[in-house]
Amino acid sequence: MNDYPDPHLLVGGEKLNGGGRETDDVLDPATGETIASLPRASAADLDTALDHAQSGFGEWRDTSADKRASILMKGASLIKERAGDIAQALTREQGKPLAEAKGETMYSAMLLEFYAGEIKRLYGRTLVRPEGSRVEVQYHPVGPVAGFAAWNFPSLNVMRKIGGPLAAGCSVIVKPSEETPASGLMIAQALLDAGVPGSALQVVFGVPNNVSEHLLASPVIRKVTFTGSTAVGKQLSKLAAEDLKITTMELGGHGPVLVFNDTDIDRALDSMAAAKYRNAGQVCVSPTRFLVQEEVFEKFRDGFVERAEKVKVGNGFDDDTQMGPMANSRGPDGLHKKITDAQKRGAKLLTGGERMGNQGNFYAPTVLSEVPVDADIINEEPFGPVALINPMDSEEAMIEEANRLPYGLAAYAWTDDPARRRRLAAQVEAGMLAINAASVSAVDAPFGGVKWSGHGLEDGAEGVKACMVSKTIHEG
Ligand code: NAD
Repeated sequence: MNDYPDPHLLVGGEKLNGGGRETDDVLDPATGETIASLPRASAADLDTALDHAQSGFGEWRDTSADKRASILMKGASLIKERAGDIAQALTREQGKPLAEAKGETMYSAMLLEFYAGEIKRLYGRTLVRPEGSRVEVQYHPVGPVAGFAAWNFPSLNVMRKIGGPLAAGCSVIVKPSEETPASGLMIAQALLDAGVPGSALQVVFGVPNNVSEHLLASPVIRKVTFTGSTAVGKQLSKLAAEDLKITTMELGGHGPVLVFNDTDIDRALDSMAAAKYRNAGQVCVSPTRFLVQEEVFEKFRDGFVERAEKVKVGNGFDDDTQMGPMANSRGPDGLHKKITDAQKRGAKLLTGGERMGNQGNFYAPTVLSEVPVDADIINEEPFGPVALINPMDSEEAMIEEANRLPYGLAAYAWTDDPARRRRLAAQVEAGMLAINAASVSAVDAPFGGVKWSGHGLEDGAEGVKACMVSKTIHEG
């Protein structure tokens, strides 16, 4: 039975489908079956969406802060009510275990609740000069926003693209991934049902490059926010620069994990192995380069292999599944190529390293050790279920290796030495550092990277401020 919702465009509050529009198939990554046909927005649809975004911006910006906050709170409660259905669609289109899909969706609602609260905390400030003059600093929504979300967190990524802009008073046109369209659409529909005007929140699909070029060429769009690869992030940044649009770029990473001999290795193993194979490693903040002090290297390596081999891989709808398929067919093919390259260059394959089953995009939880520095996999984000574990002889060498790559998204460290924690916080180049912890996300804390992992922030108060511009009023 195919209970996957029929996807459509959402333009000016209308559901658009058919009408001679070109379509793309949506595939179930666990079976390879086609589950839906997704319409592509035509150039005329995109122009209509741009017109609505312009008028929707005025309408939403001029809605009182109280009303906007209560609409977003209602949207969050509708998402929670519908989380079971949204999670079903998400697992069908993306493959992750149903419990994770539900957790992601509930987290999206919590993020929206946080943003709704922030609407009432968007203060300016007044500088009162002793001689009587005043300077007032005001914050205003930047204008219509174009958001492009990736397929690895189909509901949360869409929320990250729309929550901050809506809280700031902007209108948004969002393009979820064509590979995972339904759960993001259901998130947007909940917000429309809660009272966000149809012109302030629109959803389009198409050939990604065509949609972004079309929207970014328009002077209506004042901000671009993207989650995806560094290569596409650079391309969109260049397009945005033509019109000096503001950008938020949430791009790739290559998470270093610094494991010192002064920590509880079993605790580090339990936490990091679960984090590594979550969402089949298709997580921008996934822990990937394990840099382990020599004294504890063998214990850590063997413990990791043992845990990797116990991960239950299967269809995300099966109750005992801990890791589903990769989300698209590019995943296992690209990962396998990188693993083979690493082996040819001398890396040791300790477990995994192969596809699983004869349908869908399943790939075995994999561990490589002694991976040489010239292997592609230790330089380019593998974005899959693979851990790279290398022995290291000193803290200096570990920090140097952590900072060697141009990426700087999430980093992890396991140590019980307080002085070392402070050194790491100062020296590791990353937007987020988790010490003796696996999570780098909290709705009230900023999320984002440095260097090639991007710029601009989502979540926290910073996620709203990123969609605002200041205006300074000088009064004599
Ligand atoms: P990609 O960058 O081509 O696509 C990622 C997302 O961006 C997709 O949803 C896609 O629809 C969209 N996209 C692609 N080109 C676009 C364009 N010109 N304009 C607007 N949107 C566009 O990456 P991919 O092939 O799907 O995955 C390859 C790599 O991207 C992964 O291996 C990983 O390194 C990275 N990635 C990172 C994240 C993240 O969370 N930062 C998410 C997905 C992929």
